[in-house]
Amino acid sequence: MMAVSQRGALLAFLALLGAGPLLLPEFYVTLLNYIGLYAIVALGLVLLTGVGGLTSFGQAAFVGLGAYTTAYLTTATDLPSWLALVGGSPWLALALGLVGTAAVALLLGALTLRLSGHYLPLGTIAWGISLYFLFGNLEFIGGHTGITGIPALQLAGVEVKSGRAFYYLIWTALLALVWATHNLLDSRAGRAIRALKGGSLMAEAMGVDTARLKIEIFLIAALFACVSGWLYAHLQRFVNPTPFGLGVGIEYLFMAVIGGAASVWGALLGAGVITVLKQWLQDLLPKLLGSSGNFETIVFGVIMVLMLQRARDGLWPLLARLVPVKSGDGQRAAPQGEPLPRRQMPEAGTLLLEVKGATKRFGGLVACNEMQLTVRAGEVLALIGPNGAGKSTMFNLISGVAPLTAGEIVFMGGRIDGMSARAIAQRGMSRSFQHVRLLPTMSVLENAAIGAHMRGSKGVVPAALHLERVEEGRLLAEAARQIERVGLEKQMFEQAGSLALGQQRILEIARALCADPCLLLLDEPAAGLRYLEKQALADLLRRLRAEGMGILLVEHDMDFVMGLADRVVVMEFGQRIAEGLPEEVQRDPAVLEAYLGGVE
Ligand code: ADP
Ligand code: MG
Repeated sequence: MMAVSQRGALLAFLALLGAGPLLLPEFYVTLLNYIGLYAIVALGLVLLTGVGGLTSFGQAAFVGLGAYTTAYLTTATDLPSWLALVGGSPWLALALGLVGTAAVALLLGALTLRLSGHYLPLGTIAWGISLYFLFGNLEFIGGHTGITGIPALQLAGVEVKSGRAFYYLIWTALLALVWATHNLLDSRAGRAIRALKGGSLMAEAMGVDTARLKIEIFLIAALFACVSGWLYAHLQRFVNPTPFGLGVGIEYLFMAVIGGAASVWGALLGAGVITVLKQWLQDLLPKLLGSSGNFETIVFGVIMVLMLQRARDGLWPLLARLVPVKSGDGQRAAPQGEPLPRRQMPEAGTLLLEVKGATKRFGGLVACNEMQLTVRAGEVLALIGPNGAGKSTMFNLISGVAPLTAGEIVFMGGRIDGMSARAIAQRGMSRSFQHVRLLPTMSVLENAAIGAHMRGSKGVVPAALHLERVEEGRLLAEAARQIERVGLEKQMFEQAGSLALGQQRILEIARALCADPCLLLLDEPAAGLRYLEKQALADLLRRLRAEGMGILLVEHDMDFVMGLADRVVVMEFGQRIAEGLPEEVQRDPAVLEAYLGGVE
């Protein structure tokens, strides 16, 4: 098959879309209209669920909010005086619908997004059902009969009445939202959204405000649904509660998951497949089974289970593989951009970190007991000790991942115990994780760029409109510089998940360096590295030290530690059992006893 460029494939698709209503019979235009409307909602779910990892069964209720707001405002003859001004105009009703939906979404988001695991989907089911019954039980919006006589839309003085005219409106709206979502995902904010799925811990340590970000994507998905509902109401010209119930909310989720929950085009594909399949099954199944009923739901359920087992990523990746697309980048050049402003580094020898009497209990287990240590600018402090000694726990206490049971931590002259991981990161501490926390399907470059999150400021709106390209270029250039610094430039555009474990650890260091820290916490960075790679890592750490960075290092490899560290602190059973120069510690009988089990 001939390979086509990505742009070529897109242009061909747009040409087909544009010509569609001119060539197709009315029936198909109607079908495509509904596919477009559903795809708008599914697109929101791609962002919320597919990318952000927050499952919602309740999107249909937001569609209902958009539809009912305009239905009511454009038909009611006895609007309360404060609303009378906006009465009759679908466009003002859209604006008001968006504001109302945002308000409801903020409230529901604040109540449910903090729920973890299965409680969030359950929460969305609860409000999905509540809003549905609200629509059905409010007299002023017609109860279960709904509202009829919704006016046609006027666009530049022309009535958008026919299915064909509506087609262009729906698909223009959809494509604009696809474009915006695509832009958003390819940005600083988009990287942070994608980082949510791997749990909030890494993202927070890189300075991402995950709670706020979750609310933002929840809001975006709700607003998309509202737009779809508004279009639906004016296409259909009447509304009742049926299309806004939980069952439909589940179908929207099917669309996003089956189409390919992590790609914007998956929303279109999923909406198309589910809508056509539903139409077909609704025709076929009652005939086959000899009785009427919503049998298609059962079939969807089975498909969903099969997809989750066989093709987690949905149909889009499978389809994309069928069309061999020329990637076109071949030898891609590293991004260039003006360097970002840097932090004022403390002078060498300045006390950066002071841990005083840090204690951490897990139930009866004392993982850290009255630990003391200090790190100065321009020195490498190694924290060593046998497995389970409490080294990683110390890291978590220092970096704000876990709260202290007792004690004090001072960083850059101020207490940081009790502060969030994000606030501590902002003060200039950056870390790597013993169990690497990368986003395996994102490129090495993008993974590193997450570390530079705090050094940018542009949020979702400029990102969606691509108005942040200058800042984005600088962030990516910084990521590229740090990748080159750690020696991963050959892998810059590869998926992080395809790297060897040792290289993934190095990538974690590049990500940490992107934050421009003055204190670097590295948890077993040399594990899994080959000899030469270890030497390269040691060289890198020496260079960082020479620049005045403070480095706190947990490491098992004694040769590595002894050749590099300025001072060593030894832990056993949560206690500090020795501290000193590498050669002193190596001779300390207590250390030999603990660390080497008394042999030698
Ligand atoms: P190290 O990194 O030195 O190998 P850790 O800090 O990971 O040791 O663990 C120290 C001790 O604390 C171990 O006994 C471990 O099982 C325990 N521990 C660590 N994290 C937790 C936790 N979240 N809950 C309960 N126990 C923990
Ligand atoms: Mg550990």
